[in-house]
Amino acid sequence: MKKILCIRMMITILLSISIGTLYGQEVIKDELPTVKGKRVLLVYGGWDGHQPGVFSQRVGEWLEKEEAIVTVSETLEIYTNKEVMSSIDMIIQYWTMGELSKEQEKGLLTAVKNGTGIAGCHGGLGDSFRKSTAYQYMIGGQWVAHPGGKIDYKVSIINTEDPITKGISDFEIKNTEQYYMHIDPNSQVLATTTFDGAYDYWIKGAVIPVAWKKHFAKGRVFYVSIGHDPKDFDTPSAWKLLTKGIRWASGSKEKTEKNNVSPIYPSKITRN
Ligand SMILES: [Zn+2]
Repeated sequence: MKKILCIRMMITILLSISIGTLYGQEVIKDELPTVKGKRVLLVYGGWDGHQPGVFSQRVGEWLEKEEAIVTVSETLEIYTNKEVMSSIDMIIQYWTMGELSKEQEKGLLTAVKNGTGIAGCHGGLGDSFRKSTAYQYMIGGQWVAHPGGKIDYKVSIINTEDPITKGISDFEIKNTEQYYMHIDPNSQVLATTTFDGAYDYWIKGAVIPVAWKKHFAKGRVFYVSIGHDPKDFDTPSAWKLLTKGIRWASGSKEKTEKNNVSPIYPSKITRN
């Protein structure tokens, strides 16, 4: 009898510990906005090699699960639709290369300036409209090379305090493109990668941002260079980085905050 009571007590204690832990996990907030109830415009197309449809389906399914209100567009003409562009909270774009007309560029940039967030990855955001310098000014970077083609590389989280990267450790990503980018040195860099020089010896030790955040007037901009193949996001840390960045960018209209200008060069060089 005593033994049974003892076992019962043990079970009760174990149960309350596990429920407590579960409850504890539920109430822990990660300081990021959610996309629930937000109007998200998902735009995809451009170069086929990046499987824009596969990527968009994956992100679209996640957005639905998170209860966002999603509009999908396979054309850039949507950027000229003032009604849509003024009502959305954020844009997720996956469009490699291609061209933006002047009207499309204006529509897109005006929306972001007014507080619509924009997020995306790889060539879908960082190699989109090579002729549009105004677009590149907004995103804060442009792809220029991926030495070695598909390789394995390491991603280092350099800001572990930011709500986007908090809880994500350095990770490795396999058989994909390591992006060498020209970037705005005033963006707030969250993660980097270091080139080992195996393919282009003269860049051995070069450190290039993998993920950053910035503002373009009132709009939040988030970029991550991973994603040559949508399967890159099977790596849990890569998926976490992308989705947490999306969530951050979705919050510009909810909460205005200080700009994220984070210069890496001194404004003046003092010589002794
Ligand atoms: Zn690629």
